[in-house]
Amino acid sequence: MDGVIDKLIGNYTRNNKRRVKKIVEAIKEKSSEYLEKSDSFFARKTEELKRRLQNGESKESVIVDALALCYAAIHKIKGYKPYDVQLEAAVAMQGAHYQGHVVAEMKTGEGKTLVQILTAYFDALDGKSVHIVSANDYLAGRDFEGNRPVFELLGLSVGLVQAKTPAEEKRESYSKDITFSTIKNIAFDYLRDNTAKKKSDQVINRPFGHIVIDEVDSTLIDEATTPIILSPSENSPYKIGTDRKAYMDRVKFLYSLNEDNIGIAPNPITFKDATNYFKSHPKMVFIYCEWDKSVYICDEYNGDKVLRNVIIARYFFKNGVNYELCNKLDEKGKVVFDENGRPVKKINIIDGPTGRISASKKFSNGVHQAIEAIEAYKAQIAHKEYSVETSDELVPLGVCTYADVLGMYEGNVSGMTGTSSEIFEDIYGMPTYQVPTRKKNIRKDDTKYYLTKKEKYEAILDDIEECYRIGRPVLIGTTSVTESEEISMLLAKRGIIHNLLNAKSESIEAAIVANAGQFGSVTVATNMAGRGTDIELGDGVRALGGLRVIGVSRNRSSRIDNQLRGRCSRQGDPGSSIMYSSLQDERVTKNVGKLDTLISNKLKARAYIESKLGHPIKDKSIKSDFVDEAQKSDEITTVEMIKHVNAFNNPLVKQRKDVYRFRNKIFDSKNIVELIKDILRETLNNTEDVSRLIELFGGYIKIDASQSIDEIKNHIYNEISRKVDSFASNSLYHDVMRRTMIKIIDADWIEQMQILEDGKIEWMTEALDGKDPLLHYELRAYDAFLYMVNCVYEEILAYAYDPNMKYGTYVLGRNRNNKSQSEDAPTL
Ligand code: ADP
Ligand code: MG
Repeated sequence: MDGVIDKLIGNYTRNNKRRVKKIVEAIKEKSSEYLEKSDSFFARKTEELKRRLQNGESKESVIVDALALCYAAIHKIKGYKPYDVQLEAAVAMQGAHYQGHVVAEMKTGEGKTLVQILTAYFDALDGKSVHIVSANDYLAGRDFEGNRPVFELLGLSVGLVQAKTPAEEKRESYSKDITFSTIKNIAFDYLRDNTAKKKSDQVINRPFGHIVIDEVDSTLIDEATTPIILSPSENSPYKIGTDRKAYMDRVKFLYSLNEDNIGIAPNPITFKDATNYFKSHPKMVFIYCEWDKSVYICDEYNGDKVLRNVIIARYFFKNGVNYELCNKLDEKGKVVFDENGRPVKKINIIDGPTGRISASKKFSNGVHQAIEAIEAYKAQIAHKEYSVETSDELVPLGVCTYADVLGMYEGNVSGMTGTSSEIFEDIYGMPTYQVPTRKKNIRKDDTKYYLTKKEKYEAILDDIEECYRIGRPVLIGTTSVTESEEISMLLAKRGIIHNLLNAKSESIEAAIVANAGQFGSVTVATNMAGRGTDIELGDGVRALGGLRVIGVSRNRSSRIDNQLRGRCSRQGDPGSSIMYSSLQDERVTKNVGKLDTLISNKLKARAYIESKLGHPIKDKSIKSDFVDEAQKSDEITTVEMIKHVNAFNNPLVKQRKDVYRFRNKIFDSKNIVELIKDILRETLNNTEDVSRLIELFGGYIKIDASQSIDEIKNHIYNEISRKVDSFASNSLYHDVMRRTMIKIIDADWIEQMQILEDGKIEWMTEALDGKDPLLHYELRAYDAFLYMVNCVYEEILAYAYDPNMKYGTYVLGRNRNNKSQSEDAPTL
């Protein structure tokens, strides 16, 4: 059976390939007609193509003409013609039935930037917006500058949105036919737009049409393990007061515990396992598992969120890996001192994929505050000459994931990558189309394993020195900033002159990496540094064997290893790559616990003993087993994390859509009185008992409880609609109500998001055997949402009835906590 399906799929792929290649041939043939045309021809032709689609012609019948025109435009502007493989990728990215959603796999240096132009141009012909997104702001800017003339010749307008672009300019850029940016910027703008107090503050002014994602693996895999969180500014009212003493108490408590109190689970366990374990081990306070980053706390302390945060901070967030303690600087860049004259240190996040340090970001959900308390405690007991900053926890204003950003695009979602992965198909529903390299790839790959880190480093340095002596360029890829500094120090000791990419800025990095292929150059970089930059070989380097790429440790996935290897031997160049590993690499040691489930039994016992390397392991195959399996288990973790983030994000996505739709309804409604009456009718229809009606309306409407429920409902309806009708002609009323309603929905939604986040832990403990945790979460999330909607309606009706009431003074039945801040609304 499987064989039959395989054959069918095989045939399908082959047929699709054949179809794509036929179109490519037709494009090249057709293009000769356009190569000699004058500039003004191109825009006119674009208009004609747009019209043909509008008049109902199929995409299939337009694609040859369209891409032939784009081909000629590229030639006119850039002076070279797209290669066949580039056309092939662009056609494939439309999908076999023009349904899009295809990832084209094209090796580094094969020219994905041009594919971007071809795809975006064809997508844009239906008049919907096109976003071209890159891995970072620098690349978005580079491609915008480089490709803009081609689009303009073709009569399409282009814009650029970077993180720092002013709102006014963003609005302009988003209104263009083609907008260059990053998914992150777009996600943040989307979230920010939907917290805007006025419609005119919003910057994305068109529906999401198509999106072309360059280096789609970086965006949709490497960065997708955590959701995007919009935090308020430091002086926002949405702050959770942080009880610092509580944090410090829990830290002291945590560090006072001994082995009997702390359980370490090498493999993921279920809530039931944990419960049983606590029963049989009464001294146990909590169990944690590094693999799936889970924490189970015994009954006595279970509700203690601060303790949970402190445990998470201690075991899952490492100094030098996830964050760094840096001097706190003021606006002028001067070190800040505390009242005792000691420098103040602050926690700066190290961004995993790039190794870049971010001074402005904070870990969410109280983890940041927990880390601060832990570092303060450590500094105190070690009598360090510094203090640690304490910051307030901010309430996120909006949350989304990359998957749900993609879900907002109506049209084609397509991407290019140097190294594909099943994740695209599994999680995002995007199959991969493999584009062959234009010339044969002659890169030589090697892998070496060592027992200790020391031996490994020596071998690496010998390797580098050998190249350095003859002037052969070397690019050394590391998995962390710390590792690159270690290598740099060792190189300096041997007197080897080199460049160290220290995540200074994307544009400087790009410039250095661009020169990594020159004679004699030695470049140490974290793997993501300078990505997307083409490395050309310098004079004489070819004869020396081309660029040598050295991986200091294996990455989180073999895909990233391959990406690193792919930085040499582009477009048929000579080159070689090697990946080093040792049994002391963090990737191996931290996975040792779960290796025993992944590797055959013979290794079980040896894993623990020999990873400490009291006794060296002689067998080479065992070494590679350890390293390869450790990497595999990290790959699985990544996939699981993305799936987990997406699954538990689904209720939020659905609810957020409703909330944002409601906000826009408020913005767009000409007649707010009608909207209020709709809300009134809905509330009355959904309320089935008298006591609830009294709870809702008794505060401001006299209700005669002896009447029938229908009579009471009628009375309430008449009372409130009479009152709001009397305001109907007052335009100020519409204005004030609009703003108050937005405030109400925002405050309640922010609280709802917090409830959903906390629920990921709280509701889980209810999901004992027999209950599917995800389903249980969804049900609870839905209940909480209905409750929120009721609260929002209740508040809106109260203010609609008495618009002179100050926002924030109305106290609700259940008293959701954000209402304490009262803001002045203009009185009528
Ligand atoms: P990738 O993104 O796939 O790694 P780039 O788009 O950066 O590759 O292109 C690599 C290099 O090849 C660039 O210097 C680019 O100018 C050049 N290039 C791309 N396409 C062509 C072409 N059709 N003809 C000539 N040079 C090209
Ligand atoms: Mg590129």
